[in-house]
Amino acid sequence: RTVYVNGEYLPETDAKISIFDRGFLMADAVYEVTSVLDGKLIDFEGHAVRLKRSLDALDMAEPCTKDELLDIHRKLVELNEINEGLIYLQVTRGSDGDRDFVFPSEDTAPTIVLFTQNKPGLADSPAARKGAKIISIDDIRWGRRDIKTVQLLYPSMGKMMAKKAGADDAWMIEDGYVTEGTSNNAYFVKNGTIVTRPLSNDILHGITRKAVLRMAEEAQMKIEERLFTIDEAKEADEAFTTSASAFVMPVVEIDGVALGDGTPGPIACRLREIYLEESRAAAV
Ligand code: PLP
Repeated sequence: RTVYVNGEYLPETDAKISIFDRGFLMADAVYEVTSVLDGKLIDFEGHAVRLKRSLDALDMAEPCTKDELLDIHRKLVELNEINEGLIYLQVTRGSDGDRDFVFPSEDTAPTIVLFTQNKPGLADSPAARKGAKIISIDDIRWGRRDIKTVQLLYPSMGKMMAKKAGADDAWMIEDGYVTEGTSNNAYFVKNGTIVTRPLSNDILHGITRKAVLRMAEEAQMKIEERLFTIDEAKEADEAFTTSASAFVMPVVEIDGVALGDGTPGPIACRLREIYLEESRAAAV
């Protein structure tokens, strides 16, 4: 696999960053994940805008322009012959060659790394045809979940808790209300109305969320952005999650309770179809 590190395209085994890099020592880094379908980037613009927002929120410099970023994404897709897959982009505050809580001086170069994952079958996914089983867990993450940082330890632990419980993923709960999934936004559907938590610092502002809600509105579906409990979701007709890496993923079970007839619901399946079709058509 060819990866990109600070201006160079290299075999992954030759890529190097400093052991003092603040991404490694302090999780002082942000990231983006963009999906690739038909060898093209899905919603590159949305991811580039959110990257800038995350960098600004942390007073981090932009490592390159948006046009350069697009070129790097496209070149990696080409070099690695990705037809369906994902591109990960990580930007850290870099390093001035030692460990210190205080940020290094502003002229310290950020570290930028991109790598691809080849995922044939990402769109026509067996997992999506089956639907996901989820469990609920406490949300004990920090208070700025709207910034897409690489602090992914708790979400990783959440996935492991789900796995140990025989489920696929976890939804997190804070002050009695569902925040989001470990790596996706959460929704349920009751009597034809789609319910999801409103945007705030408590959740990541999903690029897929924005697109799917727009498409749902265009399809005359009813949407309520409000807080909801896990009990409400368990009594729903259907549920689903959204993310750049899994698009729209039907949820068929919550904490051992089957939703509807225990198979992917019609609204989730319809939204997945619409999302794939429209985002493919708009891919760059
Ligand atoms: N929420 C969290 C915590 C995430 O990690 C992600 C994706 O990684 C999402 C939501 C979905 O965001 P997007 O649709 O931009 O992938």
